[in-house]
Amino acid sequence: MRLRTVWRIGRIAGIGVAIHPSWLIIYVLFAWSATVAVRYFDADLNEVNSIVLGLIASLVLFASVVAHEFAHALVARRLGIPIEGITLFLFGGVASILREPPSPAAELAMAAAGPALSLVLAAVFLLISVAVHALHWTWGWTFCVFLAAANGMLAVFNLLPAFPSDGGRILRALLWMHKRSQARATGTASVVSLVVAVCLAGCGLYFVLGEHEYRGVWWMVIGSFLAQAAMTSARQARVDLALEQLSVRECMLTKLIPVPADTTVGEFIGEIAGLPGAAYPVVRAGVLVGIADVRQTAGIPLQRWPSTPVSAIMSPLGAPPLREEASARDALAALHDSGRSELPVFEAGVLVGIITQEAIFRALHARKTSVLAAARP
Ligand SMILES: [Zn+2]
Repeated sequence: MRLRTVWRIGRIAGIGVAIHPSWLIIYVLFAWSATVAVRYFDADLNEVNSIVLGLIASLVLFASVVAHEFAHALVARRLGIPIEGITLFLFGGVASILREPPSPAAELAMAAAGPALSLVLAAVFLLISVAVHALHWTWGWTFCVFLAAANGMLAVFNLLPAFPSDGGRILRALLWMHKRSQARATGTASVVSLVVAVCLAGCGLYFVLGEHEYRGVWWMVIGSFLAQAAMTSARQARVDLALEQLSVRECMLTKLIPVPADTTVGEFIGEIAGLPGAAYPVVRAGVLVGIADVRQTAGIPLQRWPSTPVSAIMSPLGAPPLREEASARDALAALHDSGRSELPVFEAGVLVGIITQEAIFRALHARKTSVLAAARP
């Protein structure tokens, strides 16, 4: 999820923490609820003190949500998955994890870390509240019980099996282990998420009709947010599944036109490049050294075309080679991770094709068109 306007408030352990303006609504709502609770349990407390306590409780909740997201982020970092940062917004926090987990076990560890930490925090606040209660310190007791309940609710809410929340991710990891396909698991988890989201929105409507408007509207907002997220995940899962079922062999470019490394950019553009569906491996003394692409010549001024060899603009080899039977999904991930626009495909040490993003999407589109044509009566 991308939130555009955010206020960056600092970095902890190299991970940036930011706040989206919508988070202020939660901050005020929680501060208000904490103020009311403290006043209810300790009638001796004056108004100013209870408001101050409410504001402090809300700040501690802020720290608890950040800690929850940090648990996700630190597990992700341990698994070698890059993290962009943590953002707090209307529905809590979100850790921007830049890559999908590589295995269901990794997804399970990452997803469970946040709720586990929230449950630990709930237990810690509960223990402190017991100690404070023994000292007959009423407002302190209310303060701790309130934070224990808030952290407990944070864990429970996040454990709802509604993708992409933690519970939804845990469900997907378990389905992924069972189905051995992340895309199929995402598809099923999205359907479960949609059911949960509709139930939440339905409960919200029930509350509104039962004159609990505040709670009802809130549940309806959360339900519709989750339903929207579930539908986006389902759409993504359909594309992922199609990519998973498409092999590199079916989409790679096999019309390979070898280009000697000392060919000039001028000769490459004028005489060699431009054949539809072709790719250009660069060879030096019969050995493959890179891949040339017309797009890579964009930064070379026209007057330097006759003197620049194609070896100066080619993508060098170096990224792990792809196999023909790999899925188009893995190929897209490899293209993304390597930052290259094309990658060679080897079979038994021989170059058999070159894969590009465009070639994958062309094959995906052709397959979709043929499936639609076959389905037509
Ligand atoms: Zn979480």
